Amino acid sequence: MFDLIQVAEHTYYVDCPVRVGVWEQAGEAILIDSGNSPESAARIHAKIRDAGLRVRHILNTHCHPDHIGGNRYFSETCGATCWCSSKDAAFCAVSELGTAIMYGGRPPERLMLDRFMKAEDCPCREAEEFPFPEGMELVDLAGHSMFQKGVRTPDGVCFMADCVASEKVLDRFVFTYAYDIARYRNTLTRLTGWEKGIYIPSHCEPCEDIASLAAYNLAKLEERLAEIVGLLAQPMTAEELLTALFRRHKLRMTLSQRYLIGSTLSGMLSYLMDCGKITTKSDDGRLLWLNSEVETR
Ligand SMILES: [Zn+2]
Repeated sequence: MFDLIQVAEHTYYVDCPVRVGVWEQAGEAILIDSGNSPESAARIHAKIRDAGLRVRHILNTHCHPDHIGGNRYFSETCGATCWCSSKDAAFCAVSELGTAIMYGGRPPERLMLDRFMKAEDCPCREAEEFPFPEGMELVDLAGHSMFQKGVRTPDGVCFMADCVASEKVLDRFVFTYAYDIARYRNTLTRLTGWEKGIYIPSHCEPCEDIASLAAYNLAKLEERLAEIVGLLAQPMTAEELLTALFRRHKLRMTLSQRYLIGSTLSGMLSYLMDCGKITTKSDDGRLLWLNSEVETR
């Protein structure tokens, strides 16, 4: 853990729970994401310092707390400038915004103290204005967060943020977080056509074949969407639907899961409603979701 692993001439990653990319040139480093906490950031920093590098910039792939958790640390200890894709940058500056989106109101303190739900606030500049070294570019991976980006380095490594989960994680946890299902689905569909290369997703092993992994993620997403449409042959509230899904897949409900996966389910309901597959109806103080085919019968 926390080893600095070289993957191309100038590109490394730190092998830690949320992988951090390192691109170096002339003794200076651009980090891709900053670790999931100030403590992780300190361990990452130690490795980078041992390699004789100075951290100049943090290029965040998206605003989730486990990717920006070290922003303030690197900003304060190295004077690093933090950057994040367009409107995601606002969520880095006020991390509570992301927690509030998942919760749907002012979250309880317990969620605000959860490192997966909220990070320390740190101002970020918009990554589109980043002084990119020649050959480095952002790659659109929207959907998991509103404006998630990957980063392609000049020596051909692509950091993939959270656009895919491993087969093992998908099989075990069934759901992965996504904000905008239409964009998430488009991103996965696009990736199924990508050529082999060096890909580093944040939460799974580096791989060459991103297309196959994206295809597996896409198949699981389609499975979940079809499952929801099937379950809604019986009209039910969103809460009842979430419970039905958790029971079906024997998942453990906790406060953070309720809002992480509940928020993903809200996005799935929006997507299915926008596709015309499901609709809602009022029923004695309840809002029921139902399969459009049932409604027209
Ligand atoms: Zn994320």
